[in-house]
Amino acid sequence: MSEAQRVLLVTGGSRGIGAAVCRLGAKAGYRVVVNYTANKAAADALVAEIKAAGGDAFAVKGDVGSEADILAMFESVDRTYGRLDAFVNNAGIVDAKARVDEMSVARLERMMRINVVGSILCAREAVKRMSTRHGGKGGAIVNISSAAAVLGAPDNYVDYAASKGAIDTFTVGLAREVAAEGVRVNAVRPGIIDTDIHASGGQPDRVALIQDTLPMKRAGTADEVAAAVLYLLSDAASYTTGAILNVSGGR
Ligand code: NAP
Repeated sequence: MSEAQRVLLVTGGSRGIGAAVCRLGAKAGYRVVVNYTANKAAADALVAEIKAAGGDAFAVKGDVGSEADILAMFESVDRTYGRLDAFVNNAGIVDAKARVDEMSVARLERMMRINVVGSILCAREAVKRMSTRHGGKGGAIVNISSAAAVLGAPDNYVDYAASKGAIDTFTVGLAREVAAEGVRVNAVRPGIIDTDIHASGGQPDRVALIQDTLPMKRAGTADEVAAAVLYLLSDAASYTTGAILNVSGGR
């Protein structure tokens, strides 16, 4: 791996969609930084897998709900690789199925802190390193939104849907803000994707229960989302910014 090789940082890169982005990014030739918050074993296993395939990667623990952790994460990228070319704002959470009239302020603040404030702070740090205004060489950011931003997720998690609506608006605004500074900002809106996130929100059977109602009669895979993310990060998307790409199987 040479110093000239591009560097990709993925928040929540240890499992699910983030891990698929890390794997595909390594295959595309990026040196990969795998962020995780709790499951060190999964992050270490992914780094080992990338290295065994001839790539370069390291794992960094950090909660995107904490500004101090975000700063430390970006500083570890500076120290180890000394550059940042591509950044994916992927870490995100859902909470238990609930109606809005049942939601506590603690739940809402956690949802917005991790999904919205964390994503904006991470993008701030990425822009500081990529933007020509700050002496950077340019770069690309992809935010992971959700089809929920459009559908609203009634009776499930309207708070989550609202957090992803904020990501859509943030994507358009930041894209225009830094368009003349060499930084492209886009988003991907996955539909129902078969990952652990449904179990972590207390609905382990969500994919099985819902798949027959989906236009393609199946959930998507993390790899199918990762392919869209890698396209938006790549030079093939050099005139694409402020775009929000549905990867939702027509949902
Ligand atoms: P997942 O399988 O639950 O994986 C979540 C990843 O994020 C893990 O690597 C986890 O780390 C990490 N993470 C969780 N909280 C974090 C925090 N506070 N700080 C840093 N990392 C954190 O999730 P996923 O399904 O791949 O979802 C990834 C993104 O896609 C999310 O933004 C989600 O909203 C979005 N999305 C998913 C779907 C879907 O159906 N799966 C649909 C639409 C949008 P640990 O391994 O350490 O726990």
